[in-house]
Amino acid sequence: MAETLKKLDDLVALCKRRGFIFQSSDIYGGLASCYDYGPLGVELKRNVKNAWWKSVVQTRDDMVGLDCSILMHPMVWKASGHVDKFADLIAECKKCNTRTRVDHLQGVENEETTHHEQPEAAMAKDGLNDKVCPKCGTTGQFTEPMPFKLMFETQMGANVDDSMKVYLRPETAQGIFTNFSNVLNTTRLKLPFGIAQIGKSFRNEVTTKAFIFRTREFEQMEIEFFCVPGTDEQWWEHWKNERMKWYLDLGIRKENLRFRPHADDELAHYAKACVDIEYLFPFGQGDWQELEGIANRTDYDLRQHQRGMRSITKWFENGRDTEKTPLVDEPDDWSKGPLSYFDDESRKRYIPYVIEPSAGVDRGMLAFLVDAYAEEEVRGEKRNLLRFHPSLAPIKAAVFPLVKKDGMPEKARTIYNELRQYFTSFYDQKGAVGRRYRRQDEAGTPFCITVDGQTAEDNTVTIRDRDSMEQTRINCDKLLGYLREKLGI
Ligand code: ATP
Repeated sequence: MAETLKKLDDLVALCKRRGFIFQSSDIYGGLASCYDYGPLGVELKRNVKNAWWKSVVQTRDDMVGLDCSILMHPMVWKASGHVDKFADLIAECKKCNTRTRVDHLQGVENEETTHHEQPEAAMAKDGLNDKVCPKCGTTGQFTEPMPFKLMFETQMGANVDDSMKVYLRPETAQGIFTNFSNVLNTTRLKLPFGIAQIGKSFRNEVTTKAFIFRTREFEQMEIEFFCVPGTDEQWWEHWKNERMKWYLDLGIRKENLRFRPHADDELAHYAKACVDIEYLFPFGQGDWQELEGIANRTDYDLRQHQRGMRSITKWFENGRDTEKTPLVDEPDDWSKGPLSYFDDESRKRYIPYVIEPSAGVDRGMLAFLVDAYAEEEVRGEKRNLLRFHPSLAPIKAAVFPLVKKDGMPEKARTIYNELRQYFTSFYDQKGAVGRRYRRQDEAGTPFCITVDGQTAEDNTVTIRDRDSMEQTRINCDKLLGYLREKLGI
């Protein structure tokens, strides 16, 4: 009987031992909440991103991709609301001086709730008298909550007269909104259509948590799906189902996934609806946590950017000080503004509505790792394995000569050289073959191919299946076709 992951520490240890994930700047003692992906991790990460891209761009007629710069005009973040509002409410424990996100403080009985853009909602609750400091355990000894800005700031430009404060983007979404008309004007797309982007985002998170779950530098996979107002609810449903299906199709167990609709007091003021896809992570006693949010953002963002565009003169007048530049009001004819859409059929101009499925690459990876993790006892010995879906597995096939003689290494290398033209493969001739199998189990490799004594006689090799450990013989001429079919590549 296979055991699933009980403690996150076991997975952290496996990830380090096998080269999936390392602490950033490890040799200097590490940099908190930043991680590096090792040889296996980088393959897994790329596979997650490719699976997403295939599902939301490659196989759809109504989606295109984009790759925007991380540094953007600072007024982008004014218009989006981030400069003024992207903050967490924090409170400091008077005993040990640890600062914690107010919405992450556990009451004696309360659960944590909420979302970055909703600090007021969390604060409105009846004070912090019943809240416990997560560091020292003291109850109700907190300072007044205060906002803590989450955007990383930096300076751009060498000259005093043209340098300015810019921000590392805290989400990829705004780059999509700012390119809405560029994409519209350079493609033949008509509503409804969506733009997808994968890229790094940065947030100076207060509470970092559980390995790669919440980090200060992370990658997002975001879609802005533009649709005709009035059809937004139907598209929201569509994306909800599509995105849940994606996790299930990639092998995450159904019982570990759920939808969590946002409560009214949690919903951002502009959002008409929002639902999170949550995964049951093994933190503490088992904890449902957000993997992805799917929001109906209405026409809010494009309208805000129209205001931002109109505020540029004011920004120059204010010495390019973004924080001090208020956004000008919308004109009466805002619906015909520069980011509006002309609908050929209805002959009307309007601002599209937007559905935003926003997922984390790293957080998704953590869920795939947790869900794939298994420990088994085989003939009195423990075996660790990662039961990755074949399309996520960092290495698809490993090739071994049974022993280092009788032409076996040469034959195995020939097979390996052929397979690696089609998918990531691995060659290993070191140690007992049983140990080589175990190493691949731990890396999540679905198939191991062994060249043995019989190979020279009838050109067959064995294929061992990671999950069932069954071995079958196959003719080398059929090997590639067999593997490609099984791997779906
Ligand atoms: P939270 O309330 O947990 O801080 P959020 O609701 O602000 O997160 P969004 O802004 O909706 O998160 O971001 C979309 C997705 O990006 C999240 O569902 C998550 O997968 C990922 N994400 C956000 N912040 C981080 C982070 N600090 N580290 C890793 N992934 C993140």
